[in-house]
Amino acid sequence: KFEESNILQHLPKQFFASLVKKVNAKIATGADVINLGQGNPDQPTPEFIVEAMQKQTADPQNHKYAQFRGDPELKKAAAAFYQREYGVSLDPETEIAILGGSKIGLVELPFAILNPGDMMLLPDPGYPDYLSGVALAQVKLELMRLTEANHFLPDYDTLDKQVVEDAKLMYLNYPNNPTGAVATPAFYQKTVDFAKANGIGVVQDFAYGAIGFDGHRPVSFLQTPGAKDVGIEMDTFSKSFNMAGWRIGFAAGNADMIEAINLIQDHLFVSVFPAIQKAAITALNSDQQSVHDLVALYEKRRNQFFKAARAIGWEPYPSGGSFYAWMPVPKGYTSEAFADLLLDKAAVAVAPGNGFGDGGEGFIRVGLLIDEPRFTEACQRIAKLHLFD
Ligand code: PLP
Repeated sequence: KFEESNILQHLPKQFFASLVKKVNAKIATGADVINLGQGNPDQPTPEFIVEAMQKQTADPQNHKYAQFRGDPELKKAAAAFYQREYGVSLDPETEIAILGGSKIGLVELPFAILNPGDMMLLPDPGYPDYLSGVALAQVKLELMRLTEANHFLPDYDTLDKQVVEDAKLMYLNYPNNPTGAVATPAFYQKTVDFAKANGIGVVQDFAYGAIGFDGHRPVSFLQTPGAKDVGIEMDTFSKSFNMAGWRIGFAAGNADMIEAINLIQDHLFVSVFPAIQKAAITALNSDQQSVHDLVALYEKRRNQFFKAARAIGWEPYPSGGSFYAWMPVPKGYTSEAFADLLLDKAAVAVAPGNGFGDGGEGFIRVGLLIDEPRFTEACQRIAKLHLFD
């Protein structure tokens, strides 16, 4: 009989697993559940990327062990993409690391550059998987509260002096999961200044980097003067190209952090299937029309959902990007009680805000990953509960 190691026992509970269980139990009763709780893109990978992969799959060259540190051509394509899209210069070999999805990079980075007992800062609310990196690296965690009053950006001036002194690494995520908030160049400049002054490394999770609304393209952290001195950006093909199942992403920026990620990868992985890396090159080198079409779809859905919610007196937080809506819960309910009520009485599944940390209490997250008319139907079902009258 084997027991889990101490480290594994400290891993956080997988919050989405319990949500899926609740939703499945409701579906098993025969209910027609409208699932707004998940974060899994519903659209297929664009055809031209699938075709590129299929072609490459047939090539025996791609059946061998791949280069340990990723296809050099993909690294060049990633650097060219940053130059074209953001005006950021990156050295493909020293400032780009290819990852089997960005989650792996986000989880392994603390292990790669911190020692047990070091301190790191995470946003609250935030993407729950960041906590896995904290547990695996056995580092100390301090949370940076994101408030609506501060547009869900951390306010560095409110952090405890000792925490600022001790912290070695911090994570940001804009466009933000779960709030849909976006960052400004001024905020990123403040971040670089704060990080430099206090010796803190920065990881900006750009998973939703392509998804900005109302004509505003999200800015890259690496566009900020001095950003490469303090940190990296994590990128993924999962959202912008609907390639979540393919497992491919990359990190870009500070060469020391990139080297640390590469070192850890040398020991744990051999690299992503070469045909997938080749297809990723095709995606980056494309005219980005598929991305623009996808953003237009999410913006249309956001507008449809906001309209339906406002029609029943439910006022959304005005999200600027990502594919989520961040909705306040009515007075007298916790996030979880409200989410349970919606599932129970309206067969509408949503993610309770506290699943993203205490800072998410008072909100629920709605995924814009189904089409009309289901949004409107969800809001009409919720209207019948008379919670916003
Ligand atoms: N970061 C955020 C904020 C996410 O929401 C997700 C996925 O949902 C990821 C990272 C992980 O993406 P990937 O598929 O590249 O591992």
